[in-house]
Amino acid sequence: MKFADLHLHTHFSDGTFSPEELSLRAREAGLSTVALTDHDTLEGCPRMREACAKEGLEFVPGTELTADTAGQEVHVLGYWIDENSPALQSELARFQKVRHTRIEEMVARLNACGVPLRAETVFEIARCNSPGRPHLARALVEGGYANDFDHAFDRFLKKGRAAWVPKARMKAADAIRLIHDAGGAAVLAHPGLYRNDGIIPRLAAEGLDGVECWHTKHSGEASANYVRIATSLNLATTGGSDCHGMAKGQPLVGTVRIPTAHVEAIHARRPSRLPAAP
Ligand code: AMP
Ligand code: ZN
Ligand code: FE
Ligand code: FE
Repeated sequence: MKFADLHLHTHFSDGTFSPEELSLRAREAGLSTVALTDHDTLEGCPRMREACAKEGLEFVPGTELTADTAGQEVHVLGYWIDENSPALQSELARFQKVRHTRIEEMVARLNACGVPLRAETVFEIARCNSPGRPHLARALVEGGYANDFDHAFDRFLKKGRAAWVPKARMKAADAIRLIHDAGGAAVLAHPGLYRNDGIIPRLAAEGLDGVECWHTKHSGEASANYVRIATSLNLATTGGSDCHGMAKGQPLVGTVRIPTAHVEAIHARRPSRLPAAP
């Protein structure tokens, strides 16, 4: 049987691996298909596609959008998106700009509570167009303001802590439409993290194509629950590790994997491209 990991990040957002390193590790983990799902960007896709070809892996281009449904932050994965879709590109550029402003706001809050970090330092660490809290966490550790990555979140960056600033979100219905308009399939990422299963039927009514049932942070019981919910709503079932690099000395890539039959099933959900009217 062949396996896929459909949730992976590189240094084009808040992961630490390059596309080349990630695809090498994916092959070593025995995968045959991988999706790149960097936050709010598709910039890593051309390099990842090339690196996957070298490693003999099937590549699924994707992204992970931050969205909102009924006041709940949700992440929506978009797969097989047309990387050159102007509407999607302009929306991603808008979100990347907002991410930069958010880092500046979070740094200002840190400064106000006596941590003399500079936004430029965070941007130098991030070296990407989609900076986020993990880059700020690394800057706090490097500057000696936190013992480690998790401590930085606990002390400053978690929701409700001194430096936390909410992230701009698009409406989930808009995220789904944007993905469909760019020819892709839309999947709800890690529903187990929201503890709000009532959002799934609502998103299904808004056109969602699938649910990420298998994820690093889902227990076996949670996965079975999401398979049940997805199946009852006629949604596809997907999964991925959400690898951001090394975790406790191990790369997460491939630790959550799904048979490639699931990949074919979600691929079949993409909107059919009707021929242009004469
Ligand atoms: P952002 O997109 O800037 O809101 O950052 C979200 C990312 O930060 C997630 O993808 C996680 O990788 C990471 N993250 C969120 N909360 C925590 C936490 N409490 N501890 C460690 N990492 C976290
Ligand atoms: Zn991330
Ligand atoms: Fe996520
Ligand atoms: Fe992710």
